[in-house]
Amino acid sequence: MNVHESEKLAGILQSRGYLPCQNVEDADVIVLNTCCVRETAETKVYGHLGRIKSQKKQGAIIAVCGCMTQQPNAAEKLVKRCPFVNIVIGTFNQPRLGDYLDRFIQTGTRVIEVWTSEKDGDCAESTSPVRSSGINAWVNIMYGCNNFCTYCIVPYVRGRERCRPIDNIVSDIDSLLSKGYKQITLLGQNVNSYRYMGKTFTDLLKELESDTKYRLKFMTSHPKDISPDLAQIISDSKVLSHSLHLPVQAGSDRILQAMNRHYTRDEYLAKISSFRELIPNIGLSSDVMVGFPTETEDDFLQTLDLVERVKYNNLFMFIYSRRSGTPADTMPQLDYSTKQKRIDRLIKFQFEISKQLALGAVGHTAEVLVSDKDGSKCYGKSETDAAITFESDSAQIGDFVRVKIVSAKNANLTGEVV
Ligand code: SF4
Repeated sequence: MNVHESEKLAGILQSRGYLPCQNVEDADVIVLNTCCVRETAETKVYGHLGRIKSQKKQGAIIAVCGCMTQQPNAAEKLVKRCPFVNIVIGTFNQPRLGDYLDRFIQTGTRVIEVWTSEKDGDCAESTSPVRSSGINAWVNIMYGCNNFCTYCIVPYVRGRERCRPIDNIVSDIDSLLSKGYKQITLLGQNVNSYRYMGKTFTDLLKELESDTKYRLKFMTSHPKDISPDLAQIISDSKVLSHSLHLPVQAGSDRILQAMNRHYTRDEYLAKISSFRELIPNIGLSSDVMVGFPTETEDDFLQTLDLVERVKYNNLFMFIYSRRSGTPADTMPQLDYSTKQKRIDRLIKFQFEISKQLALGAVGHTAEVLVSDKDGSKCYGKSETDAAITFESDSAQIGDFVRVKIVSAKNANLTGEVV
């Protein structure tokens, strides 16, 4: 999501005549698009700013935007700590970066402006992004989140859900396909709750079916909102990836309740089973957090058990990160060493699962969308989102190629063109 936001910021700069450069030393304008979902990301911003201060050329303008500045008192803290920063804006007024640049250049006065909501006519989609993800294009279908998971800062810094009109999304995607993009990823904090004038997320997916060959993906899904007919839609679709990223976060009902996730482990597992029934080879991935406040050894073992039952192809594993202003921040915290030991165990556990799944894929044939090429070595992903490498002189970036998987080393698959 942040990568796509940076593409939009690059679009604003390009529309004002700025061009990208490789080195900070050469830049006339330096924009930091920040994130505050985890504490480490926030700490890194100050580290980057320190380096930029010593590397930037005389007169270069520094702007800081993104969700870090949207937190209470964060902009004030930033301007005090970094007096060399010229522009500080938040997530809601980011589309106006160009106007703030003009204002600073004309007046030489620092611009510090963080809105608490979008203003009329200031839709984030007014910006044409400079897309930098090769054959993949990201398309926001909605912004914000209504869920208030107790560990998460997103609803506070990105506001409540706002969905884009379905026609605008469809026409954006038509235009991207006509330009040759081969993979479109729909973005939203909780795409399953997309609603616009009575149309739902599954209505949107049906509208995006096409005779043009492309791959359609979406993220992120929330287990409580995922529609029962989504599995059928994926199974019947000519364009949808046979993969699903369904963050579970924890395998213990007690912790899921404390997280305010609104589903139980059994409900989650039942949803996974219903997808596997219709799409037996579906590629599954998830986010799992360890060390949530009050998590006991038994809670953690239940998470391991759930991970073992589902056998995810890919798992994004995190240590719980305290975020000021969220309910979980006020709950009794676990010590660092317990959290670290648990994440190490989980990573090891999942590594074995990924290894076994990769071995099981040997002998199967997949359709790989080539996203990168180095000499004759092609890199891409299958319809189930498995990363596969193969040799071909003729295959080009953007081609769909039938590949037989011939070997697996750890979770890395190698194939041969069939
Ligand atoms: S659904 Fe996702 S974005 Fe929304 S509060 Fe929960 S974790 Fe945060």
